[in-house]
Amino acid sequence: MLLAGFFIGGPVKVFAVRVLYGSVFFRVRFRVRLRVRHLVMKILGIETSCDETAAAVVEDGSRILSSVVASQVAVHHPYGGVVPELASRKHIEAIVAVVEEALEKAGLRTDQVDAVAATRGPGLVGALLVGFNFAKAFAYARAIPWTGVDHLEAHIYSVFFGDEVPGLPYAALLVSGGHTSIYHVKNHCEMTRLGETLDDAAGEAFDKVAKMLGLGYPGGNVISELAERGRPGKIQFPRAYMDKAAFAFSFSGLKTAVNRFIQTHPENYHELIPDIAAEFQAAVIEVLVYKLMRAAEKTGCRDIALVGGVAANRKLREELAKAAKDAGLTLFTPSIDLCGDNAAMIAGLGYHLLKDGDKAPEDLSADVYSRAARG
Ligand code: ADP
Ligand code: MG
Repeated sequence: MLLAGFFIGGPVKVFAVRVLYGSVFFRVRFRVRLRVRHLVMKILGIETSCDETAAAVVEDGSRILSSVVASQVAVHHPYGGVVPELASRKHIEAIVAVVEEALEKAGLRTDQVDAVAATRGPGLVGALLVGFNFAKAFAYARAIPWTGVDHLEAHIYSVFFGDEVPGLPYAALLVSGGHTSIYHVKNHCEMTRLGETLDDAAGEAFDKVAKMLGLGYPGGNVISELAERGRPGKIQFPRAYMDKAAFAFSFSGLKTAVNRFIQTHPENYHELIPDIAAEFQAAVIEVLVYKLMRAAEKTGCRDIALVGGVAANRKLREELAKAAKDAGLTLFTPSIDLCGDNAAMIAGLGYHLLKDGDKAPEDLSADVYSRAARG
């Protein structure tokens, strides 16, 4: 038909070219587009497990096009901790605007999103349900794939946005407001938990000590700033190694020791707050560093990772980097903005789940427990 078109000329030629284009080139082009669409996926991530409403767009599981985090700190601050019911209500109020901002910053219309990934758990169930059901509705309305992501596995994935990434397997320390655990990570979604805290999480201990000292909530950042001016060792607090060969943590004894010091020094503990902060922080860091180094030794991993909200702690990053260098290991940490809860890590891990064919079943629901809790 094309040849005939060339000879006949004029409108017929145009028609012939169109038919040919439509029947062959268009199909080829369409196929290529589908393939590219499959490989280069722009995923909308949604995170509402606790007190941050977050949305992000990540391309290919590694390129962050946008990441928006709306913190509820001001809402919970007067109560000295997260109030679950308030958290859910605030997520409902914020979710649409946060998703819109993430799409706008990524320069995307809703119909340009290829798939959706939302935190499935663990977290506050009422808070989880907001983001998870929003994600489901968004995906169904657009008829695109979606998946549920484990919040802890996503934190561990947060080291995969850097220029250099760990080689598998690696040992990871997850330290946040709700968790303190060490994992032997075989791949993004397959990991063995070597140990975890028996009582408080490290971030929770920072928050509670800050509360005792009247420093407000959340306390991690305030304590670490005060600690810069304090003298570790001036006051002595215990190091809870538990069984030195195992990977369990405990921070409740340390918390009690700080409380006892405050009770027994009512007249002068105020002047000693920087020293209390420095010694408390040193006691937490010493044990965290020791256990992660032991985990690397036990598993034979040459790469280690530090993730979670407490991974933003400058002193912890510094001490761990020193210990890793001395042992000839390579330490990977997320950038500071990816340490706390965010949706980029959810979209990033979601990409790998979807690529591996992990499309969520219709009846998948939010879950207060973690998949990563096994092992
Ligand atoms: P979760 O997911 O468990 O809610 P995040 O991963 O958001 O927790 O981390 C929040 C925790 O990190 C809080 O307990 C906070 O005090 C702690 N945190 C944040 N910055 C620092 C810091 N610089 N030093 C120590 N802890 C910190
Ligand atoms: Mg978290």
